[in-house]
Amino acid sequence: MSVWDDLVGQEPVIAQLSAAAEREGGPAHAWLFTGPPGSGRVTAARAFAAALQCTETPRGCGHCASCHQVLQGTHADVEVVRPQGLSFGIRDARALVLRASSSPSGSGRQIVLFEDADRATEGAANALLKAIEEPPPRTVWLLCTPSPEDLLVTIRSRCRLVTLQTPPIAAIADFLVQRDGVPRETAEVAARAAQGHISRARRLAAEPRMRQVRDQVVAVPRRLTGVSAAVAAAETLVNAAKAERDAQTAELNETETSALRKALGESEKGRMPRGTAGALKELEDRQKSRATRLLRDALDRTLLDLASYYRDVLTLQLGAGSELVNIELGPELRSAAADGRPEDTLRRLDAIMDCRERLAANVNPQLAFEALTLALRHG
Ligand SMILES: [Zn+2]
Repeated sequence: MSVWDDLVGQEPVIAQLSAAAEREGGPAHAWLFTGPPGSGRVTAARAFAAALQCTETPRGCGHCASCHQVLQGTHADVEVVRPQGLSFGIRDARALVLRASSSPSGSGRQIVLFEDADRATEGAANALLKAIEEPPPRTVWLLCTPSPEDLLVTIRSRCRLVTLQTPPIAAIADFLVQRDGVPRETAEVAARAAQGHISRARRLAAEPRMRQVRDQVVAVPRRLTGVSAAVAAAETLVNAAKAERDAQTAELNETETSALRKALGESEKGRMPRGTAGALKELEDRQKSRATRLLRDALDRTLLDLASYYRDVLTLQLGAGSELVNIELGPELRSAAADGRPEDTLRRLDAIMDCRERLAANVNPQLAFEALTLALRHG
């Protein structure tokens, strides 16, 4: 076992990072991890942080106390920044810069792992820039963004780039079988449906309810026979995204709230001491803001699921011969392909991309999805 075990289909990245962890004179002081959503940028950054703090040779053993603490998120010299809302402001950035400049408590390095660094506002990014330009000698910054362009060019140019690829479906399926003990057949269905998104594949494999929700999404095209059916289908799609969001937040919210209530001195009977309402309210606000962001992500994934249906239809229409994502819908996809022209399918895929843009511009999801299902409708 090693710290790299949770990376799926990223051999070149593992080679790059394990060499950097062994480098004499220490690693570069700023790194940028990029890759498509679900490819494992944060997993890679965390593994690298563990390798840098590891006390064994070769570094990144995965079983020493340091490796363990980093992977568990409890290492004193690894600060994980995970913006909960849609943006990370200048005040947060200044506080972070201050913490990052403190000396590590151990003999290793002070590491800042910034997930979703693309959520930093321009002001925040400028505040970070100064710290990244002239970091204290033992501080290492690990930033994660979907693509290098998501970061100010001035920051990007000071970072070593680590580029993750979309992991192959077969590698994700193997991972689900070996790591999570998922039956082979379920693993393959989940890996294909997740289209390269590892944590989504894990969720689909572990939760039959999530597979049902996805089935409802890819069943939408055949229902789109008229205006009222289209409006109803839009609701199905929005609800599918909400179900996915709820699956991610419910348990998390509960754990956080009960941990905070305990920390603030909750009585046996569940009473809270005076003066703690503010802290609880603040947590609630943060959870709401996170729910907003997760719903946005889930809506986007719902659209990608829907797009996978039309991409399959197009594959069949063009006789491209590549493997279908929704194999189980084979007969339906073939009949949809035979009934339409590639131009129509392309127009529908464009409508899905338009909907993504509208959501990114904060259009009400129900309205955006109604416009979409009306554009997708046939007959
Ligand atoms: Zn170790």
